[in-house]
Amino acid sequence: MKSKNAIGKSFKEVYSASKPLFIWNYGLTLLQGLLNAIPVIALQFFFDQITRIHEVDTKGIFLALGIVVLVKTVNYAIRAITSYNYEYYDLKISKDMVNKLNAKISRWNALRFEDSQNLDLIGRAYDGSRYLRRIVDTILLIALYYIPEIVVILFYLYSANAYLPLIVFVILATVFLIEKIQERFYVNIEKETALLTRKIKTYSGYLSALDYYKETKLLGLQKYFMELLHAAFDQRKTVRWKFFSKALRLDGCEKGILLAGKISIILILFLCVKQQAITIGVFAALLTSLNDVFNMMEGFINAFSEGLTEVIEKVRSFFAIVDEDPEDAIEGEPLQDDIHQIELKHVSFSYPNQTIEAIKNISLTIREGEHIAVVGKNGSGKTTLVKLLSGLYTPKTGDILYNGIPLENNRLFEKQSAVFQNYGKYAVSLEENIRLSDTNSNRMIDPIVKAVDMTGLNSQTVLSNLFGGIELSGGQWQRLAIARGFYRSCQWIYLDEPTSSIDPIEEGALFKLFHDLGKNKTSIIVTHRLGSIRFADRILVMDGGEIIGDGTHEELMLQCELYRNIWNSQARLFR
Ligand code: ADP
Repeated sequence: MKSKNAIGKSFKEVYSASKPLFIWNYGLTLLQGLLNAIPVIALQFFFDQITRIHEVDTKGIFLALGIVVLVKTVNYAIRAITSYNYEYYDLKISKDMVNKLNAKISRWNALRFEDSQNLDLIGRAYDGSRYLRRIVDTILLIALYYIPEIVVILFYLYSANAYLPLIVFVILATVFLIEKIQERFYVNIEKETALLTRKIKTYSGYLSALDYYKETKLLGLQKYFMELLHAAFDQRKTVRWKFFSKALRLDGCEKGILLAGKISIILILFLCVKQQAITIGVFAALLTSLNDVFNMMEGFINAFSEGLTEVIEKVRSFFAIVDEDPEDAIEGEPLQDDIHQIELKHVSFSYPNQTIEAIKNISLTIREGEHIAVVGKNGSGKTTLVKLLSGLYTPKTGDILYNGIPLENNRLFEKQSAVFQNYGKYAVSLEENIRLSDTNSNRMIDPIVKAVDMTGLNSQTVLSNLFGGIELSGGQWQRLAIARGFYRSCQWIYLDEPTSSIDPIEEGALFKLFHDLGKNKTSIIVTHRLGSIRFADRILVMDGGEIIGDGTHEELMLQCELYRNIWNSQARLFR
């Protein structure tokens, strides 16, 4: 995904975020630019007068100085106003852009999040959302603030010597060309270091993120991860340096060209004074203002070498997401009927960038009211099967029929609930944590709180220590996730290893709870613990992405060797 013309689009977004602010802000910048041109003329008059020995126009000198001082003062005042505006405008644009991005990403098909390249794109796009304004600002500053002054200076230069403006143009063109070449380097840096940057973030997380630091500390893994982190840093440095060293050499060339240009212009001007082609006043005024021209050029160069090209690259990623209409989005009208049956017909599925199929040619029918347990070794495809059944992922080949018909464009999420292995630990109150699964419902949460045995907690207290709330134990969080899953009013529920953080004594009680809460629902439980399957009336045994057993416990003990092995190995533990 690439988005062309990031600059034009940035202008459009920044303008439409607030037209009055845009006009007011950049109108002031233009006013500053126009005012900037006045001192050049005033200075010329000033220097011309003071170098005259006779007939010095004292009044004129003071007037010229007064104009310079006044213009500078007004300019500073305007700058103060524009900086104030800048912050306000910036906050507004950033908020609008992040909202746009979030709105688009929320429509993405869940499968896209499994592709690390998309995660990189998201990271760059969020960065980019903050930079649209910077692009517009840099360009308009050059166009509105510097250009009027430059026009006056070019006019003076032209009147001194017709070649002088030409020299300025040649320098500008060369600088611009070099910038274009540099831009390519920066684009490459972004591309080639994306994976390494992700590694750095991940390893840093292993060292300090809440979910990891305990294990890292206890197992003494700091050194191990630090070495990985250093290696990633070093690799990134090497890659960046490869491009940077080229870019920096070009930078050196640019600076050299600017310096040579400046010196030659001054020399020519000096010769003009000697030949009396221009007055000392023009010479002095140009010398003072010429700095502005070169500052502008350097500003232009710095804006780029300080990463405007990198910034443009990130803004491109922003537009790549915002402009795209996700064709794979699962949306449209919610499914009207309740789900009575789900049928998989020769369904295969593999994750992005993976050649191995996680699900291989599965055909399966699940009917309303069934209580199904899915068992099998790690990596056998249990979770993937649930993601396919629930419509989170779409199959690579084969069909999934809901009530006998393919989904087309209907959402079925409203008809289902799920408790995943990586459930959310939301930093909101206990009550909200439960209500999140059915935000439109006013039903009491009390029965479910009682059912999951969380009555000891105040339902209004904010949970998680992220924002200073109270932290729950792993088991309590899991109970809460289960309560949330069952609070949702729907007939179809998936439970993916729902008891992994709960001790075995409680586990038995919870499986009974699933049984009671899920009595009138269709439930599909993915589990390692075969103790739980006594509440299931049908068991699916998975191996290598296939279903190799489908039946009751008794049937499978007779027919399915893998099931028998798993059962016996677990039973042995309890003997
Ligand atoms: P289970 O739930 O039985 O442990 P999964 O459904 O999670 O198994 O995984 C099935 C297969 O798909 C495994 O080989 C696993 O390595 C692979 N897999 C799972 N998630 C991803 C992913 N996000 N990207 C690539 N491969 C994955």
